Amino acid sequence: MSDKRNFWLAASETSLSTVWGNSEDDVYSAKALKFMFPEDQKFFQELLCNEGEEFSRYEPLFDFRSPDIKRREFKKIVKRARLELEKFYGRVCQLRCSDMCDIESGINIDHVIPLSSNKLNKELRQIKALKGKKVLTQSFGSNHISNLILACKKCNSYKKHRFLSKPELKRIFALKNL
Ligand SMILES: [Zn+2]
Repeated sequence: MSDKRNFWLAASETSLSTVWGNSEDDVYSAKALKFMFPEDQKFFQELLCNEGEEFSRYEPLFDFRSPDIKRREFKKIVKRARLELEKFYGRVCQLRCSDMCDIESGINIDHVIPLSSNKLNKELRQIKALKGKKVLTQSFGSNHISNLILACKKCNSYKKHRFLSKPELKRIFALKNL
């Protein structure tokens, strides 16, 4: 196992390996980053990396397969993911992006990098929606444990599908020891 994988699995190896597996073939494991457009990779690189930080360490956050497949897989693991995350981090809101943050509102599992988004199509490529349609979405986020957090329902509905800011992301990754 490479150091990079060790790094990503460090938090999950003991209690989460049953959910996500730890073989190199595991569908949730790191795959080479294959962005459709170089400007997309640049966007995420700037969003995630501090100066001098390798982008490859964030590979597990991404999965470019069809969002439908990822959503189906997420449905199958979400219950267990929640149990494991709560066991590991406690019954807390890791998102904490709203003034209304309240763990008693209920807990969701949120994707740090959204499973899909049309933000880059709109903002980087100025793609306009066809009449009566939305701008096409792209597939980005993974169901890997590193991309999943406990989020109270208030924060989850406040965040919706937007991308978090760099400080928010750094705070969350520090919290997750990633
Ligand atoms: Zn919250």
